Amino acid sequence: MPSPSSICIFCGARAGVLPAYSQAAKETGEMIANMGWRLVYGAGDIGLMGEVARAAQAAGAKTLGVMPKHLMRQEIAKRDLGQLILTETMHERKKVMFMNCDAIVVLPGGGGSLDEFFEVLTWRQLGLHTKPIILLDVAGYWQPLVALLDHVIAHGFADGSMRGFVQVVPDVAALTVALQEGLQEGLK
Ligand code: AMP
Repeated sequence: MPSPSSICIFCGARAGVLPAYSQAAKETGEMIANMGWRLVYGAGDIGLMGEVARAAQAAGAKTLGVMPKHLMRQEIAKRDLGQLILTETMHERKKVMFMNCDAIVVLPGGGGSLDEFFEVLTWRQLGLHTKPIILLDVAGYWQPLVALLDHVIAHGFADGSMRGFVQVVPDVAALTVALQEGLQEGLK
């Protein structure tokens, strides 16, 4: 049997203030399972990370978590994942997550999620990969980030093409379609 497509989820180690964030995280986990895809994520059992993983697992998805050893207590490593890879550094974590996925989805999150987003975006800009990068814009959470990207382009610090490397979707139904199309594109 061919191995399932792997979806890397970057998201908050906190739950955020709106219930809609946790709801979207749960729906994302369930959707990954229902589509027969594998969840790749930061292995935490807290915040939105925990919500996505618990929902994906409960619905039967394969899971791969990647965490640096030094964060295991702080982010409460989820020990019942299909696979848990422990790394020495944050950089290794990002690399292992990236290498093991076919598409990247960013749910609401903080500085860590932004760091992860900008790394895959800049790698895409440099032509190092063509994996889809999708922002799940729950309750308009990512609008300031989209405005920032537009601002960077408008002021001549990036080509307009940068905007095309990021898809913005409002809900999990639209995310599912964007992933299906993006994964199909990657197979060509
Ligand atoms: P946050 O969005 O800040 O809640 O963080 C989400 C995830 O990103 C957490 O698992 C953090 O450990 C991780 N993270 C935080 N800072 C970094 C960083 N500099 N590089 C990679 N991951 C990070």
